[in-house]
Amino acid sequence: MVDFAQYLPKKNGVVAHVCPKCGKKYYPAPMVCSECGTRRDPAGVAYEPWPTEDLEGPCTLLTWTRLSALPIGFDARYMVFGIVEFPGGLRASGVIHHDKPQIGMTFYARAAVVRTNRGVAEYGLVFEEAADAVSARTA
Ligand SMILES: [Zn+2]
Repeated sequence: MVDFAQYLPKKNGVVAHVCPKCGKKYYPAPMVCSECGTRRDPAGVAYEPWPTEDLEGPCTLLTWTRLSALPIGFDARYMVFGIVEFPGGLRASGVIHHDKPQIGMTFYARAAVVRTNRGVAEYGLVFEEAADAVSARTA
């Protein structure tokens, strides 16, 4: 009997996938590594599943924008959205919890609910100033 639960996202699904051959990190995960051509099989039938790493920690803001007219599920008038780079070169996009971000700022990335779509919580990356992240965790 097939256990279909194995195909559901693990935890909140916000993880970096690491190519087992060359070590390049991805978020989101591709089906083929752009660096060395290694294939990824999420079911682990034809190929080994790729290892994952938590996408949490310090990162540098590369660029950002303010989005208005958000789709259904976002309970806000606008969203500050940006692309960051983690140490090691992995780039990822997410929601910035800062009203006046500046390119080059250091943020702290963590997984959080970014949208509720028809009652289902959807996770994504949230970037906060390091001081904000510390006070949010200790509050
Ligand atoms: Zn690779």
